[in-house]
Amino acid sequence: MKILLTAAACVLSTSAWAEVPRVVTDIAPVQSLVAQIMHGVGTPDLIVPPAASPHDHAMRPSEARDLANANIVIWMGPTLTPWLEGSIGALAPNATHLALQDHAGTVLPFREAAQLEAHEHEAHDHADEPAEEFDPHMWLDPTNAQAWVPKITAVLIAQDPENKEKYLTNSAEETQSLNVLDTQIQQQLAPYKERPFVVFHDAFHYFEARYDVEAAGAISGSNAQAPSPRRLREIEHVIEKSGAVCVFTEPQFNSGIVDAVSGKVRVGTIDPIGFNLPVYLSYAKTRKFS
Ligand SMILES: [Zn+2]
Repeated sequence: MKILLTAAACVLSTSAWAEVPRVVTDIAPVQSLVAQIMHGVGTPDLIVPPAASPHDHAMRPSEARDLANANIVIWMGPTLTPWLEGSIGALAPNATHLALQDHAGTVLPFREAAQLEAHEHEAHDHADEPAEEFDPHMWLDPTNAQAWVPKITAVLIAQDPENKEKYLTNSAEETQSLNVLDTQIQQQLAPYKERPFVVFHDAFHYFEARYDVEAAGAISGSNAQAPSPRRLREIEHVIEKSGAVCVFTEPQFNSGIVDAVSGKVRVGTIDPIGFNLPVYLSYAKTRKFS
């Protein structure tokens, strides 16, 4: 009997050792990217559901629990979610942390003004601004996602060498699908290069730069704060002066503001955060989000 128990303990400890690492991600696009690389092995958890704004989310107890149980935390980094930095340090001090903002191929500056282009060319003193004044919406350039794939893969393999082959195969496939996606978007947007548009919050700098389309303005800044009455007047002026053909709202923000400024211009929806990503939707079904 004693021998049997020892054998059982051995089996248990071996299977515990071979457990798939518990991976926690911050936003749905990062969850989706990591899920592709973990395909057939496991699904990463998510801290910020896409219905919430990553710029100012208050973590729920279930999200804090996921973080506390994490072996690996893969997140954009403190520029997108400054409120998450302390929690990662406090709740997951021993996990492996990968801040993707440190590994992007393309890094663009933070924009603030309603009229985006004018601001970029304004001469003003940047000397006392913190060094991390870059735009954190880096995932909206697929070449950044491509730069992250090998980093994510390396972190997973280091914790889970048993599944190395799967991670490497998935990683190669994901790099290839990002290539296809990039070409598809180039082709889709080619006819619209000269058509000005206005966005709800300034999340699309990377997307615009990659695909050579340009937002004439943003109702709200890069950190999605509520626009002041003055900014709303400015944006109405930008819409009129630029001849914007469309104002884009986002699924998780109040489109009433967009309706108020858009007047006769068409209103569309673009989603920078993966509101309808299949990975998130199937993950959400398994969670109660308490
Ligand atoms: Zn944003």
